[in-house]
Amino acid sequence: MKKSILFLLCSVLICCLLIACHPKNNEETTADLMYDIDVTLDGKTLRGKQTVTFRNVLADGLNEAVFHLYPNAYAENAEHKAYSGILPAYGGIEISAVTACGETASLSYDDEKQYLSVALPALSVGDRVSIDMEYAVTIPDCRLRFGMRDNTYLLSSFYPQLAVYENGAFRRDPFCAVGDPIYSETASYELSFTCPSSLVVAASAKALSKTDEGELSTYVYKADNVRDFALAASPDYNVLTARESDVDLFYFSVDTTRAEQNFAVVRSAFNRYTEAFGPSGLGSYSVVETPFEYSGMEFSGLVYVSSAAGEDTEETLLHETAHEWWYNLVGSDPIKQSALDEGLTTFTSAYYYLLAGDENAFSQKIADMKKVYTQYEILQKRRQTGIDLSADNTIYDYTAYQYTMLSYYKSCLLFNNLYELYGKDKTTACLRSYAEEYAHKTASFDDFIAACNKVLKTDVGGLVKGWLGDGPTVTTFGRA
Ligand SMILES: [Zn+2]
Repeated sequence: MKKSILFLLCSVLICCLLIACHPKNNEETTADLMYDIDVTLDGKTLRGKQTVTFRNVLADGLNEAVFHLYPNAYAENAEHKAYSGILPAYGGIEISAVTACGETASLSYDDEKQYLSVALPALSVGDRVSIDMEYAVTIPDCRLRFGMRDNTYLLSSFYPQLAVYENGAFRRDPFCAVGDPIYSETASYELSFTCPSSLVVAASAKALSKTDEGELSTYVYKADNVRDFALAASPDYNVLTARESDVDLFYFSVDTTRAEQNFAVVRSAFNRYTEAFGPSGLGSYSVVETPFEYSGMEFSGLVYVSSAAGEDTEETLLHETAHEWWYNLVGSDPIKQSALDEGLTTFTSAYYYLLAGDENAFSQKIADMKKVYTQYEILQKRRQTGIDLSADNTIYDYTAYQYTMLSYYKSCLLFNNLYELYGKDKTTACLRSYAEEYAHKTASFDDFIAACNKVLKTDVGGLVKGWLGDGPTVTTFGRA
């Protein structure tokens, strides 16, 4: 990686806390971060205990670990909210009993308590870190990434998650209702989830075990090389299962009318993407129909698709499934380079049709996208709105409309321009090379360009950066 990103080493062997914090040799090169989480659902509260371990490769003298407290973006008084308007019930997280390397840790928060800084004894490079904490999380009443509505629990980002370390500091990006402000690195998870036995549970991994005690069930999961761990649960879920490309696939829905049809799309997409770009790296993949406010949302090994997506359902299934390659397998910075995250995923969901042999459907999707974006661009120029048409701004610079037009539509056309110039075989080879080179890492546009250049044996940097910038764009850019 070119950037000094979080590249953590972890041991699954934690003999004792003192040993865990004792310097070991620095020769290991396998970077890892591990979460061991026990969480119990108790009405509208999640009670959690977690241990986070990693090896310090971040900085000599590292003296803190910073965690996101995403549930506090659902608090009533949050300035940087995950929601707009008002909620029937707000959420939040309270942290207690934090120890670092076996000692009670000194804690500090930002004003909104969206970040927790845990003081560490000054660590040398190679030292192991172990942080234990307990917490109680109030689940908000909403249809967002984290919430509950219509008997359905949407449980993502509910636990303290280590912030990404870059350029000598942990990132403290404010939450934002526009775009995706959640940025994380690859980690391993061992998670147990206890909940009422009446719930049918979907998760980022397939359950290793389920034990029943009274009216409660406990599921145990393990997932490696994932960027988050999400759950969804409802007493009303029906489940379809299949095995495709050596991965267990699940489809959860309350309404079964179109479940088989939707699952067929998921299965086909999963196979086409695997054939084209290589294995997803997942142990299982669950698609869950939920009351989610938008059409869909990706997490590692699990996606939400809105049960109200209607005619957008197929596109949403193709899009969210593509994120298992362009989010989970190859990570990117969704805050500073949302065009790489969403543009490539949007292009891939159209490209699916080409991979499936339906060139007409692919052409039509791209033509529709060109029409919408071209009209947008012409309108901005004609009206001299002064709106920046660059696709390389941060999500904080965009309105929701600009974010859609620039990070999804315009950026999709960037990737399509590569296809127009170089054709299907070479485009697929570029994407496969990118997936192989940056699997389980965080990539930038420079990395994407490097992967393409290697395959194409020519420099596409100017082309890509031209599209990203405010210069020549779809109305003026040359097409093959
Ligand atoms: Zn997306």
